[in-house]
Amino acid sequence: MNERAMQRQLKRMTAAVIITGFLILAGGGIFSASLGNVLSSTLRSQMESETEEYRISISRQTEADFQTLHTLSSFLEFSNTMDTESFARGLYESNNHNRFIRMGYFPLEGDGIRVVLNGSIETGVSPDSLPDTFQETVAKAWNGESAVSDFYYDELLEDTIIAYAVPVYQNGKLTGALAASDSISTLASILDDTTVLNSQGYIHMLDGDGRFLIRSENMVIRKELDSIFDSSYIEEEEKTRIRSAMGKGQNCFSRFHYDGQDYQIYLASLGIHDWYLLCVETAQLASTPVYSLVTATRITFIGLLALMVFLTFYGYRLLRKNNRQLISLAYYDTLTGAYNYSRFSQEIEPVIGKTTRYSIVALNIRNFKFINEIFGRNRADRLLCHISEVLEDSLSGEEAFCRDSSDLFFLFLLGTDRNVIRRRLQQIQARVAHMTLSSQRNNYPALLYCGVAVCMDTEEHRDTVSEMVTHSLFALRTAKDTPGNIWFYDQELHKTEEIENYVESHMQQALDDGEFCLYLQPKILLQNGKLGGAEALVRWIPSGHSMIYPDQFIPLFEQNGFCARLDMYMMEQVCIHLRKWHDSGLPFLPVSVNQSRLLFFETGYVESLCGLVEKYRIPPEMITLEIIEGLSMEDLDALNERIGALHEKGFRISMDDFGSGYSSLNTLGSLDIDELKLDRGFLMEITSNRHPNQKIIMEEIVSLSRKLRISTVVEGVETEENEAFIRSLGCDYGQGYYYSRPVSAEEFLQTWLKGRED
Ligand code: C2E
Ligand code: CA
Ligand code: CA
Repeated sequence: MNERAMQRQLKRMTAAVIITGFLILAGGGIFSASLGNVLSSTLRSQMESETEEYRISISRQTEADFQTLHTLSSFLEFSNTMDTESFARGLYESNNHNRFIRMGYFPLEGDGIRVVLNGSIETGVSPDSLPDTFQETVAKAWNGESAVSDFYYDELLEDTIIAYAVPVYQNGKLTGALAASDSISTLASILDDTTVLNSQGYIHMLDGDGRFLIRSENMVIRKELDSIFDSSYIEEEEKTRIRSAMGKGQNCFSRFHYDGQDYQIYLASLGIHDWYLLCVETAQLASTPVYSLVTATRITFIGLLALMVFLTFYGYRLLRKNNRQLISLAYYDTLTGAYNYSRFSQEIEPVIGKTTRYSIVALNIRNFKFINEIFGRNRADRLLCHISEVLEDSLSGEEAFCRDSSDLFFLFLLGTDRNVIRRRLQQIQARVAHMTLSSQRNNYPALLYCGVAVCMDTEEHRDTVSEMVTHSLFALRTAKDTPGNIWFYDQELHKTEEIENYVESHMQQALDDGEFCLYLQPKILLQNGKLGGAEALVRWIPSGHSMIYPDQFIPLFEQNGFCARLDMYMMEQVCIHLRKWHDSGLPFLPVSVNQSRLLFFETGYVESLCGLVEKYRIPPEMITLEIIEGLSMEDLDALNERIGALHEKGFRISMDDFGSGYSSLNTLGSLDIDELKLDRGFLMEITSNRHPNQKIIMEEIVSLSRKLRISTVVEGVETEENEAFIRSLGCDYGQGYYYSRPVSAEEFLQTWLKGRED
């Protein structure tokens, strides 16, 4: 997945989480709102019905008062004969038997009488001397109406009172008004009932302007307020709404905020004057089950939302981290932190769009496998990191480098001047070599070798980066064996590359067309100088193309796996020839056949070999399998197992190229081989006289082999002196140009087999 795709996925996931979060929130909101609605409508109807009950109680009280007055007034109808004195007496008596605190009679003409409960009797009282509201009430009664006064404070009674008045008739004629007063406490006691809304509320009585007529004892707002509109607790908007409703005599709901809490209120017209009952809910609903449910759902949803937010955040962070890791895995080498190849190509792309004056360098560490084995992985890793640091430091702005695999680095350098590049690479080599690897016994400088491809930009062709990378790798191979360890891709390498391209694209066809030919090189028995055997070597002779040598295709075939098939083909060629020669009356000759590692470990390998020798009726002892030593101990076990199986069938095993690479004497003891082929490097070294110790080593190897009953073959015998030397060591066979170059099977038959005496 690339960076952009990951970002997209991240965005999609975030969006999904946010949408889910919103859905939960919306769902929770709707649910909680609907519960809230249920709750508030329940509460409203409860407030309505309770207030209505109180309204009825108050009406009943006033009606009862009127009832009493009406009854008394009808008595008066027949008492016209009574004098004022006895009338007042009667009124006084009757007052003592009802709840009124004062009664009075005010005739249309003349002065009135007033009596006080258990108190005085006044005569000659004119209504004009009494409070306005009382006068108005009496006036209404004189007009034939039953009327109620406003509340007013009576200084004589030292109480706030309310007065009622009814008309009095005598002989069908309206003659006056009968009035009675009652203490406000009678009505207040009704409103002070503590059972309002299950003790979760209280009721006030207001006049039409919102002024308090009766303030309930149970109120929350303790402050003495004249009117509900005086307070700042009710918002202005609500006040306007309430005023308008009250102006029309309508009931209405509202709310106010006090001391951090919201209170619901209900205003219901009382039906007396413009008076209102104000019901206040104090409980905050907290104790109602519906309210707990609403609260519980709200808490749950908020909790869920919080969890969601947390998970989103956490998930996002996790994803980002993961994302970053993926990106760094995709673009960086985890060990050194350098770019990997794909990021490297991305980085240099814009630069090569601008210029063709650049070079690509492939860089490798000499004997890196050996360093890994001898100094351990950790030190080898540290060396790689050190190289990374040196490279980082040596490159300029637009230049770049990467670690491709193992010890292979690529450099993108600006410029095409070979001398400049060589100098820069030499500096890098020197800085890397500075870090010597050391163990108790070894002091080993880390050596870099470099293959360089300079960008070729001609009219016919301009190198692409991938072509240049391939070129640098070709140059790298040559660099390994060149003094100075720096090599520039050149014409010759170009030819090699062409051949390799040819090889890879033609190998299968060549095998089918029989272009791979059997060549043989004799092995000479040193004790008598006679032919002791031969090594089969492949030659590729394409039609219309010059001969291709194994060095140009075997390493390639080993990489692409084709080698196993070629080896089997060569094995069959050997069998075919041995059979043909034997059939023509010649004795069998032991022939060595090179076996690639790939083939050697293939399943069914032993069976295939047996199949061939059986098919051509060749004694297996005539076939020697040349193998190259493995590096690790696990391989050694597997190798021994294979060798055992092959020995059982009668084949002989030879260890090829011993002494090149990292073969050790230990192999001689641990591998059950029949023959040891000493690499031609030994003779080269000894001839050049560079390392005189090489002679001693060779001597030791030969003597040790003899003790282990392993026969020895020395490769690369090119001179008489070579032969004399290996003979002096007591080697068994010699092989090399001194005796013969590898020749075609036909030539081998003519020069080596015919006329051979055993
Ligand atoms: P090798 O098995 O070590 O074969 C010996 C190589 O040394 C041969 O090269 C041979 O021509 C060369 N040689 C022999 N005597 C002398 C000498 O006196 N001086 C010098 N300088 N060279 C000498 P060739 O035939 O080019 O083969 C190269 C390598 O290719 C072989 O090395 C072997 O590893 C591989 N090879 C050749 N044929 C086959 C094959 O059929 N299968 C496999 N798997 N590998 C093969
Ligand atoms: Ca060989
Ligand atoms: Ca060899």
